[in-house]
Amino acid sequence: MVYDLIVIGGGPAGIMGAAAAGGKGLQVLLVEKNSELGRKLSITGGGRCNLTNIGSMDIFQNNIVTNSKFLYSSLTSFSNLKLIEIINEYGVKTKIEEDSRVFPASDKSSDIVNALLRYLHTSSVEVLLSEKVEHVLVRANSVHGVMLRGGRQIKGKNVLIATGGLSYGHTGSTGDGLMMAQKLGHTVVQPRPGLVPLVTVEEWPGRLQGLTLEAVKVRAIVGGRAEAEQTGDVLFTHFGVSGPAILNISSCIHAFELPVSLCMDLLPFLSIDELEKRLQENFKRNQGKLLKNALGEYISQRMAPVILERSELSTDLQVDRVTRREREKLARTMKNLIVNIVGPRPLKEAIVTRGGIDVKEINPSTLESKLIDGLYFAGEVMDVDALTGGYNLQVAFSTGYLSGISAACRLRRS
Ligand SMILES: Cc1cc2nc3c(=O)[nH]c(=O)nc-3n(C[C@H](O)[C@H](O)[C@H](O)COP(=O)(O)OP(=O)(O)OC[C@H]3O[C@@H](n4cnc5c(N)ncnc54)[C@H](O)[C@@H]3O)c2cc1C
Repeated sequence: MVYDLIVIGGGPAGIMGAAAAGGKGLQVLLVEKNSELGRKLSITGGGRCNLTNIGSMDIFQNNIVTNSKFLYSSLTSFSNLKLIEIINEYGVKTKIEEDSRVFPASDKSSDIVNALLRYLHTSSVEVLLSEKVEHVLVRANSVHGVMLRGGRQIKGKNVLIATGGLSYGHTGSTGDGLMMAQKLGHTVVQPRPGLVPLVTVEEWPGRLQGLTLEAVKVRAIVGGRAEAEQTGDVLFTHFGVSGPAILNISSCIHAFELPVSLCMDLLPFLSIDELEKRLQENFKRNQGKLLKNALGEYISQRMAPVILERSELSTDLQVDRVTRREREKLARTMKNLIVNIVGPRPLKEAIVTRGGIDVKEINPSTLESKLIDGLYFAGEVMDVDALTGGYNLQVAFSTGYLSGISAACRLRRS
């Protein structure tokens, strides 16, 4: 038996690639090393699966951090609307939330996995679970199958590598596809963590563990230069900082080898002058009160001692004793709270892997390797990554779809 297409990896990219090719009449085998498909998919979005974003192509391009141009053909050949249509067609209603994020109406990622399983079934894809692919077999620069752990060979005219990156390895994304591609001559851009919490030099974030501040404007200063800005929630943890604004900014920092600090504006909707004026009014109203309690009007009560400490003011200070200089200093600290960064948390804790197979060696219109005929790539195994908001899953689905359809076109041509 020779399959038209063998897909390695049953995540969103592999499932979509297999179903799209199966839908075109190809005989497709999907091989997954876990005992079930879509293990990572089922934990996405905190178990709710933010499957895509309803934003325009421009918004997608702005939110894709690495190789957005390369992804243009994939995103146009299989758009966010097409994905939603398929998910709806296979029985799952979707809803749109803040920032145009799309979720299943049930808030259950398992519904998305089940819709995709139905799509695979309708497309007559054969699924092989609990089998790990070790090698892609190549002869005369053209793929002719795969070898499983244990040595069994399966023949195929096309092979799609959709094995994901290296983050959350317990879900099966352990970098196997990177090694397979490297053996075949492909270049791998150094994998590194993306959308990842950051470890701080300062210990005070640890004292605030569990506290989330909403709508903080965070600027990353790298090697003394402002490199990126993100606004969103910031969560303090035992090692430093996390939350959507931090995860996003972590993906915009190019070199952690240079000194990195974050400057957090806790009240971005007020200018420094407005804040100072408000503090002055507030202090008049709260004569006799402790400063740390009066500050509760602007920042969380847990945060107040840290702001006082960073402003070199005593926690016992009463508002009527605060000098103009001290008030200015307080306002400056709340608008420019600095943390110095040791580095990101490890890759295994990152939401996505940055780096991967160099896209210069992949045809963006087909996702076929430029080095080996009949070899395709899709999803996070490639050097592509995006910010939070459903963009990463859409990239996986879109590249999966395009590679599956391209394999069908290649067979028709031959
Ligand atoms: C906690 C968490 C939450 C996330 N939430 C979101 C979200 O809400 N929205 C969003 O857009 N993105 C989210 N992401 C990112 C998103 O999940 C990934 O970008 C996406 O899953 C990548 O899809 P993929 O198919 O390329 O790879 P994966 O999902 O990693 O799938 C790869 C599959 O290949 C299999 N495999 C690997 N090697 C082999 C082998 N040798 N043989 C056979 N099978 C193999 C693996 O077992 C795995 O099942 C989240 C990620 C994490 C970790």
